[in-house]
Amino acid sequence: PLNVVTFGEPMAMFYANEAGPLHEATSFSKALAGAESNVATGLSRLEHKTGYVTKLGEDNFGQFIALALEKEGIDTKSITYTKEFPTGMLIKSKVLAGDPKVEYFRKNSAASKLSLADFNEEYFASAGHLHVTSISSALSKTCHEFSLHAMEFMKKSGKTVSLDPNLRPTLWPDKETMVSTINDLATRCDWFLPGLGEGKILTGLDTPEDIAGYYLDRGVSLVVIKLGPEGAYYKTSGGEEGYADGFKVEKVVDTVGAGDGFAVGVISALLEQLQVGEAVKRGNAIGALAVMSPGDMDGLPTRDGLEKFMNASV
Ligand code: ATP
Repeated sequence: PLNVVTFGEPMAMFYANEAGPLHEATSFSKALAGAESNVATGLSRLEHKTGYVTKLGEDNFGQFIALALEKEGIDTKSITYTKEFPTGMLIKSKVLAGDPKVEYFRKNSAASKLSLADFNEEYFASAGHLHVTSISSALSKTCHEFSLHAMEFMKKSGKTVSLDPNLRPTLWPDKETMVSTINDLATRCDWFLPGLGEGKILTGLDTPEDIAGYYLDRGVSLVVIKLGPEGAYYKTSGGEEGYADGFKVEKVVDTVGAGDGFAVGVISALLEQLQVGEAVKRGNAIGALAVMSPGDMDGLPTRDGLEKFMNASV
């Protein structure tokens, strides 16, 4: 049995080895990229048996991704393959400060063809928890249907569902569609994990308290709002609430992956029956570890590494 199942679009990422404009870069390194595969990796490193579901192209990138997931101990048995569509990829510039430039090659990718026909009921039934990001709903109509079905199936089976909105405005046709689709997805999850900026865009409200209230009123049982270096705010339908301070980070190396690391911390801790405040604290710890390391996944700790970091920071 699996502790967690997740699904989404993993991609082959090529990141420039020298700083400068992307079109001038001549040498790149290759790595696995994707919000859900980052979360799966983090959970697997913390020894939560995790399954990853997607559709890959029968090509070198597809082979690379399946192997990269397996190397992390992630279960790939439910991945499907297609000859007709390619595995998605992206290229990323190197910057000395600020955000890198990213260009995607993922339109009509194999993963965007994931559909209800790929939904393996037995596989999802074997997992205790489902993690979803709303990126999947932006990829295609069939991926959106897959998301709705997976969430409904897990809820009906009495399992918990977490949702990270992961706003990607460029993947959506327009802002209204993005906002209404994600707010609809949110009403179908138990644990909702937006950043403060995302919460503002999605609700039109300003404070963490009001944003959390908006989703609690719509049936979510826990809302955790990420506040960057400040940490996070949380509130439950049972009335528990609070702020958890961020961990001190000497030097921010790369903020990409902080939100995914945060999700790993909160989800793993809640599945281990920790108190909500403790779970949010672990989210902050892994978020901090993520910003201190270069790649999306380099900072994701093992159980030992997490314990050491949290003990050293008290
Ligand atoms: P992403 O860019 O990955 O989508 P996000 O916007 O979802 O991130 P952030 O609020 O930027 O989320 O970061 C997630 C969590 O990581 C924060 O709640 C915090 O715990 C931690 N974190 C982020 N930046 C820092 C920092 N500079 N110092 C300490 N902790 C940080």
